[in-house]
Amino acid sequence: MQLLQNLIQSISGQLLPTACIICKQFQAANVCNSCLQRLYHDSLLNYECCYQCATPLQSAELSSGRCNSCDRQTPAFDQTVCLDRYDGTLQEALHQLKYQKRHSFAHGLSDVWNTLLASTIDDQSIDYLVPVPLSQKKLLTRGFNQSWELARRIQCGKHIQKLAFTLKRFHDIEQQAGKNFSARQQDIHGMFYIDAKDVPLLKGKSVVVFDDVMTTGATLNEIARTLKMIGVTWVGNWVLLRTTKLMP
Ligand SMILES: [Zn+2]
Ligand SMILES: [Zn+2]
Repeated sequence: MQLLQNLIQSISGQLLPTACIICKQFQAANVCNSCLQRLYHDSLLNYECCYQCATPLQSAELSSGRCNSCDRQTPAFDQTVCLDRYDGTLQEALHQLKYQKRHSFAHGLSDVWNTLLASTIDDQSIDYLVPVPLSQKKLLTRGFNQSWELARRIQCGKHIQKLAFTLKRFHDIEQQAGKNFSARQQDIHGMFYIDAKDVPLLKGKSVVVFDDVMTTGATLNEIARTLKMIGVTWVGNWVLLRTTKLMP
């Protein structure tokens, strides 16, 4: 049976070549080897980043492993793992997924995550993975939640249960773009909640929140605060792309 599957995959790979999501060259995989190599050498993975918020560290911060911003105002989340910076080579592919609704890019982006990052994450103590939910309005416009489309395809320990609908969101009051951390924090306070039937499930557990983009960290901070309020003991973030400006 495996032989047959391999044969079919091989034939379809020849007959139906795909385009690399980064360089657009036609070849067999969603991301070509040279783009993967380039990402491997250039991405945020090569920088010493704050273990808590994943922003690249200044030289004075290297010894503690944590940035001054997290020292001054400790976020509610405990750890952040990020694949690359927002203005790097994957931004366009993410836009193709989000704004052009091209689902093949979810495969490609999760392939990059799985190839470059998945095996380096210590996920032994993590129990659940939840995506950042979209507002009702955005979900209706877009038709899918890009964070879930990525999260469901990324590889992680089999003991981790992925819960698509546990974390929920009240309607958005205002668009957040362009606002600083404090303004965003105020806007977003109380915006998330946990499905009542899942509250006992999460109590005393470790939860990872998956987001496609992290900017100021206000959204992920509010989600972590919400999760900890219902008794979650540890909250981590897995993020595809992150803006690398220091949090104010
Ligand atoms: Zn390529
Ligand atoms: Zn930090």
